Amino acid sequence: MNRCPSAACALRAFGLRFNLPFYHTFTRSRTDEPGTMRPGLTLRWPLVLALLLAPSCAAPPSIPAPWEATEPQSAEPASTLPDTSSAVDWTRIGYSIRGKPIVATDVGGGGRRIYIIGSIHGDEPECAPVAAHIAELLSASPGLDHSTVRIVCDMNPDGTAAKTRTNTRKVDLERNWPAKDFQKASGGSGDRPCSELETAAVHADILKFNPDIIIIFQSANLSPTVTYQGAGRMLAYEFTSGARRADPHWRFNPEQRIRVQGSLESLFGSDLGKTVLRVEFQRKVPAETNAAAMVAGLRALDAQPATAAPGPVAAKTAPGRK
Ligand SMILES: [Zn+2]
Repeated sequence: MNRCPSAACALRAFGLRFNLPFYHTFTRSRTDEPGTMRPGLTLRWPLVLALLLAPSCAAPPSIPAPWEATEPQSAEPASTLPDTSSAVDWTRIGYSIRGKPIVATDVGGGGRRIYIIGSIHGDEPECAPVAAHIAELLSASPGLDHSTVRIVCDMNPDGTAAKTRTNTRKVDLERNWPAKDFQKASGGSGDRPCSELETAAVHADILKFNPDIIIIFQSANLSPTVTYQGAGRMLAYEFTSGARRADPHWRFNPEQRIRVQGSLESLFGSDLGKTVLRVEFQRKVPAETNAAAMVAGLRALDAQPATAAPGPVAAKTAPGRK
């Protein structure tokens, strides 16, 4: 719906702009009168040129299409987009490299701004369904008096479709952020910060949304855990306490402050001093169970005073940094 087949799109734009006869040849519908066709045989060369040069309309000109020329983009496996029949109003905030929409929704209208990234690693299938469930639960019954929550369902839909940690260009989107400690050589981090469409789109959306708190979902073969980066130690504790009221397995680990170079946690937590919570779901736990815990955690955050005292900021810094 948001895509257009590349060759047809380029042809249409080219033919319309220059009013070339071949345009009618290739856009005649079944209802066209035979007499309206104008073959324009002498002008076939622009068509060949257009087909040769036509990029995908959904892909940016600066990033080459990663799929094989013989592989139509429509052959991509469907991404795990949220159920569109639900009451949630998902809006596209960007595209993946392969043209899948990255969608988000807002709930609540309060002053505390919370930004949730539902999934970043495509081989962690527990994550995006939780984000979709949270959106449904909060849309049906917000229960948030002081907060506006934006939920990005999945910022790596290509990885999710292919069941890979990275995006389709083998970049780990967790390491592709413009943090001070970004390192090009660091494990598939990309050539430069925000080199990937997915990171660029979500980064721009975060800056526009201007959150106080960012929560990122991951999953692992561990007990469900919340860690944090940046200022909000008490908020992280309260969030986990809320989650534990729904599911007592949840733990807050104030010591385990993960520093991945070039990560969202580095950028918004360490560099900019925002509260970043990293939520690790336990593998294979149903999305409904995790969503209930996350909603309870969000409501606990919502109940905190807006000027909650920040916890200690001192994060372990990477070598070579202050
Ligand atoms: Zn992960």
